[in-house]
Amino acid sequence: MKIRRELIEGLIEISRENHPYEFFALLTGKKGVIEEFVYIPFEQGSDFAGFNTSLLPIGMRIYGTVHSHPSNSPHPSTQDLATFSSFGSIHIIIHYPYCRSCWNAFDSQGNMVEIEVI
Ligand SMILES: [Zn+2]
Repeated sequence: MKIRRELIEGLIEISRENHPYEFFALLTGKKGVIEEFVYIPFEQGSDFAGFNTSLLPIGMRIYGTVHSHPSNSPHPSTQDLATFSSFGSIHIIIHYPYCRSCWNAFDSQGNMVEIEVI
């Protein structure tokens, strides 16, 4: 799996702008390259795991998720792991202080994985 450099840099910027709130989005793309994100607006009291994927455009392939940790924890939480299994296979966590390397990718089990930035 690969990700576009402009995309990861843009996601880091959005995470910084949302601080101290968390930012969540789904990742999509084509041919094994993550190229875009789909912002998930969610209502007060609802959570990411409850997002209805039937709202997405037909044929959109969800590669995984991205969200920010306003705390400086780079690791997925227990709740994150429950969410990960519902949406694709690659999960990016961007953490405070939102530097260029302040992010990691995980598989659905929460194991850190390498993704190539292109
Ligand atoms: Zn998290």
